[in-house]
Amino acid sequence: MTFESLALNPFILKAINDSGYTEPTPVQAEAIPIVMAGHDLMASAQTGTGKTAAFMLPALHKLSEPPKGPGKGPRILVLSPTRELAQQITAAATKYGKYMRRAKCVSILGGTPYAVQNRLLSGPVDILVATPGRLIDHMQRGKVDFSRLEMLVLDEADRMLDMGFIEDVQLIANATPKSRQTLLFSATLDGKMAQIAKDLLNDPRRVEVASQQDRHESIEQRIHFCDDLGHKGRILDYLLRDTDLKQVIIFTATKRDADLLAGDLFDQGFPAAALHGDMPQGARNRTLTKLRRGEIRVLVATDVAARGIDVAGISHVINFDMPKQAEDYVHRIGRTGRAGATGIAVSLVSHRDGILLKKISSYTGHKIEATVIPGLEPKSRMREAAPRRGSGRDNGRGNNSGKPGKRFSSEPKHAFGHKPKSAGHSGQARNSGASETGFTGPSERRMQERYNTQPAPNRTGEKRKPATRTQRPQRDGWK
Ligand code: ADP
Ligand code: MG
Repeated sequence: MTFESLALNPFILKAINDSGYTEPTPVQAEAIPIVMAGHDLMASAQTGTGKTAAFMLPALHKLSEPPKGPGKGPRILVLSPTRELAQQITAAATKYGKYMRRAKCVSILGGTPYAVQNRLLSGPVDILVATPGRLIDHMQRGKVDFSRLEMLVLDEADRMLDMGFIEDVQLIANATPKSRQTLLFSATLDGKMAQIAKDLLNDPRRVEVASQQDRHESIEQRIHFCDDLGHKGRILDYLLRDTDLKQVIIFTATKRDADLLAGDLFDQGFPAAALHGDMPQGARNRTLTKLRRGEIRVLVATDVAARGIDVAGISHVINFDMPKQAEDYVHRIGRTGRAGATGIAVSLVSHRDGILLKKISSYTGHKIEATVIPGLEPKSRMREAAPRRGSGRDNGRGNNSGKPGKRFSSEPKHAFGHKPKSAGHSGQARNSGASETGFTGPSERRMQERYNTQPAPNRTGEKRKPATRTQRPQRDGWK
């Protein structure tokens, strides 16, 4: 990807060249074509990833075309939460627009005398960069003409929200033409951002750039090979009992599976709920609020619904079903390890997922070796499948064969950092017989129907009792 391929005005390209930029950053590469095509946009990427140019370059390109209406008011309005940021944006506009005839940029910030600003506003303006409070002062004095405004940009929208500017932003937006194009940039696109976007944006495209390299360092990725759904269920059950697991998002392939699995887990006593696109917005918001408050510990979600969730308590992400695309894998695991915390991402993979795992490792630049939980090892196929697919530098035998599992031997604790429960704990029976547990009774039957798999043999031959909610307080980590 080059700047030339983005079809920007040659004067802008010349200025970019002067800046020494050789290629667009990922957020620029994704956002600029969307903005050039005239769509509204909500975009997130970490600080320092070049978001300013992601909106300023296509904004300047717009200015290279004649204005749509008469007047001398701003054609582009950029709102910023702070003076410092507004100054940086103004500097960027000046830098990237230096070869253009029509790119007069004015900034209206608190702390500057009104007289000076009045004079600036009375002349022709192409780009107006402002903090919301001061701009509203001028609007109320009738000093701002928005009649030819074409584009509204909300930079650092999350901070504007935190700083209490959202009502001001809405007031300003309402004073601009409805025909405008609106862009929202933010470090995160969580539920609140989505609400603001809904109010102010029109059918927005969404760009969310996971800062891949940085992100992955704070996320420990694991895979477990699973023989069948029953095995998967037992591993999941084991993972959910880890005391280090604070909150988890479990991903399923379909909305229906999200509902069913959430129901199963809830029946087993986990504070679980589903989140997917078929739920009414109100229900989704309530679920997210509960998640944020820690009332929900296990969220079972689909890709689309979980995008952008930013909850610091999410210690784990579990891919119950693998995503189809490597990109989705990255979005999923990015729900954990946020805001300086560390996270664990566990994928429950089938022996057929080899190609997908390869794609993921080449996309992330990171190879994940298979982890094995004592007592929950995959059966026969593990020996052939795991080394080839999970680990490139193996001797052709599984992690748990030959030189016994690196993970095992180097980690006396269980693979998941699981602390064995004390004797007499009522959970002990379930856990020590881990391979007999997992999805029980009606749940398991439902799962079998759904996936058409065979239950793992119940070695003790005991009749399983369906889990009841009274078991909830006995679960480690969920007290
Ligand atoms: P953000 O708003 O995402 O925090 P900025 O827009 O402030 O990031 O950009 C951060 C720095 O990256 C700035 O110094 C800017 O000049 C530089 N920059 C922006 N785009 C590019 C690019 N394509 N190549 C190299 N540097 C860039
Ligand atoms: Mg910025």
